[in-house]
Amino acid sequence: MTTAAVATRSQAIFERAKAVIPGGVNSPVRSCKSVGSEPIFMDHADGSHLFDVDGNKYIDYVGSWGPMILGHRHPRVLEAIEITLKQGTSFGAPCRAEVEMAELVCKLMPSIEMVRMVNSGTEATMSAIRLARAFTKRTMIVKFDGCYHGHADSFLVKAGSGLATLGISSSPGAPDEITKLTVSIPFNDPAQLKKTFEKHGKEVAAVIIEPIVGNAGLILPEENYLQTIRELCTEHGALLIFDEVMTGFRVALGGAQDMYKIKPDLTTLGKIIGGGLPVGAYGGRKDIMEMVAPQGPVYQAGTLSGNPLAMAAGIAQLKTLQTPGTYAHLAENTTRLADGLKGLSKSIQVVSVPGMLGVFFNSKPVTDFESAQKCDTEQFGKVWRALIEKGIYWPPSQFEAAFISAVHTKHDIDNTIDAFKDAIK
Ligand SMILES: *Cc1c(COP(=O)(O)O)cnc(C)c1O
Repeated sequence: MTTAAVATRSQAIFERAKAVIPGGVNSPVRSCKSVGSEPIFMDHADGSHLFDVDGNKYIDYVGSWGPMILGHRHPRVLEAIEITLKQGTSFGAPCRAEVEMAELVCKLMPSIEMVRMVNSGTEATMSAIRLARAFTKRTMIVKFDGCYHGHADSFLVKAGSGLATLGISSSPGAPDEITKLTVSIPFNDPAQLKKTFEKHGKEVAAVIIEPIVGNAGLILPEENYLQTIRELCTEHGALLIFDEVMTGFRVALGGAQDMYKIKPDLTTLGKIIGGGLPVGAYGGRKDIMEMVAPQGPVYQAGTLSGNPLAMAAGIAQLKTLQTPGTYAHLAENTTRLADGLKGLSKSIQVVSVPGMLGVFFNSKPVTDFESAQKCDTEQFGKVWRALIEKGIYWPPSQFEAAFISAVHTKHDIDNTIDAFKDAIK
């Protein structure tokens, strides 16, 4: 390899990063590999904008992959962190803010009667299935192709192919002995779930689902689909886990479960709940949650769980989200962007719910992972690179949703539509 002249600061930092961090990034999708680019190193952020180390400014549609629903550096969130900071950063003993957070979560999501704070979405989902297994005394987990539930071994089961049914791991290192306990079936296909229950009903501890799939682009549940899942779980004695790490407090204050009026047994949360600091949570029915240690025998712990700074940021964000009009404004902005993008080309599909939007490079509607995989990722990459040139930081993957914040302006949205128009040409 010849040493090419380094053109930007971002490239220079990336060169250093590659020597000491696998792939130069601490989470794979940030690498921008799938869109034929190198990662862009950010310097700071403000409101709806990101600023990179080379001084470029972008309208941000990644929003830290979901948490930044109020935009970056929201004054109320910053103020809460600043006040808390003066009191110390971690106690290793309980603090008042943890209780306030738990009360707030139980109030905003009535299916949650008790909640445990953790440090990431991954921790939330892996703890939730341990609890579900203990509660039901069963071992199998049913998930859906294209849904992402963090990187615990049990969830790394390949989507789509027949191998998925056999539970062959899609990541080296996740033992087949563990992944064979996970069955992954197509989303939006109630017959498949019925079949799975007929075959394995008495072994299924839990069905875990992203009620709105935001990790395969953006895929909405068809009418009554979630209701059918709820009924089948009840009938077969399996717990229903809504993974609302992404949708919680985003598509509505009460999450997708409020939007579709479905009551899951357990819910996993993350992203928004931390206000931009590392937080996750799992909660639900009291009779189930009472099994968690130290009240019950199901072990789960965390040195920094319920961290005061993270609680302060999260509480401030959740409280600010309760301001009347917030979600109406979010919905309005999302619709404006969706409507603007819809007419641009016959070969794109635009899907949206308040605060989230997906643009599939596909001439047919996307209803599940299989149809999502038929997208023209090459074309997506081309458009992504053109958008970057125009100052739009769109999620660097065809299989990720874009996030809109409450502080994106009409001007931001209209600029984005214009940029897409040029980029798609
Ligand atoms: C992001 C995400 C996770 C994982 O959360 P981390 O904090 O990245 O571990 C789990 N489930 C869903 C639905 C997510 O979007």
